Amino acid sequence: MTDTDVVIVGNGPIGATLAVLLAQRGRRVTVLERRPRPYKLPRATSFDGETARLLAATGIGGDLAAITAPANGYQWQTADGRTLLDIAFSTTGRYGRPDANTMHQPALEELLAARAQALPGLTVLRGHEVVAIADGESGVEVTAVDEDEVPRTISARWVVGCDGANSFVREHLDVPVTDLGFSYEWLLCDVRLNEPREFVPTNVQICDPARPTTLVGSGPGRRRWEFMRLPGESAAELNKDETAWRLMAPFGVTPDTATLLRSTTYIFQARWADRWRVGHVLLAGDAAHLMPPFAGQGMCSGIRDVTNLAWKLDLVLGGLAGPSLLDSYEEERRAAAKEAILASVQLGRVICVTDPAAAAARDETVLANRRGKPAGRPEPASPLTGGLVHESPGAGVVVPHGPGVEPGFVLLTSEEYDSPFLASLDTRVVRPDDVLRPFLARYGATSVLMRPDYHVFGTATGVAELEALVDDLQHRLGAAVPAR
Ligand SMILES: Cc1cc2nc3c(=O)[nH]c(=O)nc-3n(C[C@H](O)[C@H](O)[C@H](O)COP(=O)(O)OP(=O)(O)OC[C@H]3O[C@@H](n4cnc5c(N)ncnc54)[C@H](O)[C@@H]3O)c2cc1C
Repeated sequence: MTDTDVVIVGNGPIGATLAVLLAQRGRRVTVLERRPRPYKLPRATSFDGETARLLAATGIGGDLAAITAPANGYQWQTADGRTLLDIAFSTTGRYGRPDANTMHQPALEELLAARAQALPGLTVLRGHEVVAIADGESGVEVTAVDEDEVPRTISARWVVGCDGANSFVREHLDVPVTDLGFSYEWLLCDVRLNEPREFVPTNVQICDPARPTTLVGSGPGRRRWEFMRLPGESAAELNKDETAWRLMAPFGVTPDTATLLRSTTYIFQARWADRWRVGHVLLAGDAAHLMPPFAGQGMCSGIRDVTNLAWKLDLVLGGLAGPSLLDSYEEERRAAAKEAILASVQLGRVICVTDPAAAAARDETVLANRRGKPAGRPEPASPLTGGLVHESPGAGVVVPHGPGVEPGFVLLTSEEYDSPFLASLDTRVVRPDDVLRPFLARYGATSVLMRPDYHVFGTATGVAELEALVDDLQHRLGAAVPAR
């Protein structure tokens, strides 16, 4: 018997989300967080519609609208104001939520903290810095020191390092890290506007080689301006409040119109850990991957990590799957994170150009290929390319929003079919309606088996294929389950 089922190291947005997802499945969770109090400064400013659906699965869906403001679009402009790229965001979205939701990150973390408090079995120990991990045959011991340097050891069956970019857990595991060597420093200026002001489009990237600049919404009444540090420019100079005001003045942002909440520089990097699981210890969020924020996918990727991990850990803890299921977590999420990192770096390489000749060449190429009307948002949630999927059309894709498409295993089927095994996984059986029928039709399927992270495990046409699909899941989970 261990003190707890899962120790989560770090109570940032990723650790906090995982803690809630596990605790609401009835698991005992202890979160160890070194900061005595919540961190009050934002890093992320937005999340996409699919991430909104995943966050809603923690039980905070009804509160998200109050802390977010939908973004209407993202435009890239040349230094002289010509449009390079124009993306229109839908406010209804494929996932039942706006395509892009700007937010104040601490407000999101407050919602998660309030939800955590309401869940029995979930303990958050603040002011506890994890300093040692000892992995054994059947579980792990984690040692943390409190603010008085008093050590405390907690035993758990699993440990998840959600301890951010400089992760102690990752260092402890000593896993190799792939670093793309992308490194640019940017000044972030977070402001609260004194008077409401509409920005159309909400998000703008000014590809000016004299000063690459980003303007984004960051929740109701707030905005962020970001300015790239130029070669040879002093970081100390950049970090002064006067510099922030000077750089924002051309946008009509002055001490008369706005309050500067903070200005600070961040170094954007691109890297991922090559292994996300060693024994009973796993990594998620920034501990596992870092990306420049140009596609707004860092936190979103972390939320996808823990959505993928939570249901697998739950099945393993409940004896409904063998521990090898957790290897599919690494396989699936590392591939997706790598894809998001490469896409973000590609955007960064276009944005962070300070050579005027190179910028002019870029502008001409992009303008020559540009189509007139705004594009839709590129799909942020990538289909699984391997891992726990059944070989069938549509396997791995993300199921769109529709009636009955809710967290948990879902069998969308027009067949008459009964499976004790699926029942043991609390699978909801849903008859496809007008909204979801086209989704099944796209794959010529009469059944779609959805995993709790909204990815399609597999599709089937007819009862015989459906039986084979379900048998495959049973076999792949690798645990003793009720006979059919
Ligand atoms: C400028 C900027 C803009 C961004 N914009 C976006 C965006 O718009 N959209 C988006 O999706 N992402 C964005 N991101 C990325 C996003 O902010 C991060 O991916 C996200 O905050 C990571 O969350 P996390 O919980 O993994 O890590 P963190 O938020 O870093 O949390 C880690 C926690 O672990 C704790 N910890 C560390 N070590 C220990 C230890 N030894 N013991 C106990 N606790 C420990 C820390 O105190 C911290 O609370 C942006 C990032 C930056 C820098």
